[in-house]
Amino acid sequence: MQEARVPVATGRKRTRRVGRAGPTAAIADAAGLRRRLLAWYARARRDLPWRRCRDPYRVWVSEVMLQQTQVERVKEFFARFMERFPTVHALARAPEAAVLKHWEGLGYYRRARQLHAAAKVVVAEHGGAFPKTVAALEGLPGVGRYTAGAIASIALDVPAPIVEANSRRVFARLAGHDRPVGGAGDEPIWDVAAALVPRRGAGAFNQAVMDLGAMVCTPTRPRCDACPVATHCAACRSGRAEEIPVVAPRRKPTRLRETAVVARHRDRVLVERRGPGEWWEGLWDFPRESGPRPAGKRLGRVAYTVTHHHVACTVVERRAATPGKPTATRRWVSVAALATLAMTAPGRRIAALLADG
Ligand code: SF4
Repeated sequence: MQEARVPVATGRKRTRRVGRAGPTAAIADAAGLRRRLLAWYARARRDLPWRRCRDPYRVWVSEVMLQQTQVERVKEFFARFMERFPTVHALARAPEAAVLKHWEGLGYYRRARQLHAAAKVVVAEHGGAFPKTVAALEGLPGVGRYTAGAIASIALDVPAPIVEANSRRVFARLAGHDRPVGGAGDEPIWDVAAALVPRRGAGAFNQAVMDLGAMVCTPTRPRCDACPVATHCAACRSGRAEEIPVVAPRRKPTRLRETAVVARHRDRVLVERRGPGEWWEGLWDFPRESGPRPAGKRLGRVAYTVTHHHVACTVVERRAATPGKPTATRRWVSVAALATLAMTAPGRRIAALLADG
């Protein structure tokens, strides 16, 4: 066993025994790697709106938006969201419907509900100031290991590692990790990240790794010839960059059929709010029926994918003799007023069929 000094996530330099199987054993000269990566980042970093200051609230909102959503799309939404909810207090005070409305188009609405819930906790229990440790941040609704590490390192300069899609790929390649990643398979990658994150400047280092993954160490055709850390990289050395990371086979999607019913009474249509445990909880949509033979005038078809399900949805219209009374989860609204509701993605597409028709 060789002995090596490695900075770890606690922020204290400590001597630890690292054998050939240690997380960074395959990475040549970790200190040189950090230096080269940070020098590259200083000249090549992406100019992203949430990076213009280190306010933990902005970092948190941007990181939550970036989960499952492309950077270019987040840019538009981030500016609008910040204008409407400029502080954690403003977000905590806002009605849930307003938060969901400003999230519309980003998808995965659970993130918005948890963001809202966490803002309330930050205000009620921490006086509006974000907790300063990874463990305390992870106590907030919807804040997992990655988001806590991002807020802590980027906004608070805590030496916390982070692993998301880009950094996972970079770390796996740097370490030559050729076993499947994802879920429990990410644990060794977290170990690499924790071993490499520097004691000071963790935020810049973490963002540099993510930028490298986005711009150079891309999923296909990584540009090893232009990579600032190629000399430190095990995958590059062994010519296996494109084979790493190894991804476990995806679950086969389930195919479903359903009917969306546009119930009309005069110029109004019926919408329902999705309940707890349903996809798109809290958002509005048209009622659904299952079964192969929909009754009513056919308006069109909407196909969508949600959590491993491919859904073929036939849209039909039916006349309602009398509208029922509105409730918290059922409303009759004009087609024009649909634009003001926070709707599910398929609901919005069905609404577009009505506007076109
Ligand atoms: Fe990625 Fe290639 Fe750079 Fe290694 S050398 S980190 S595989 S781009």
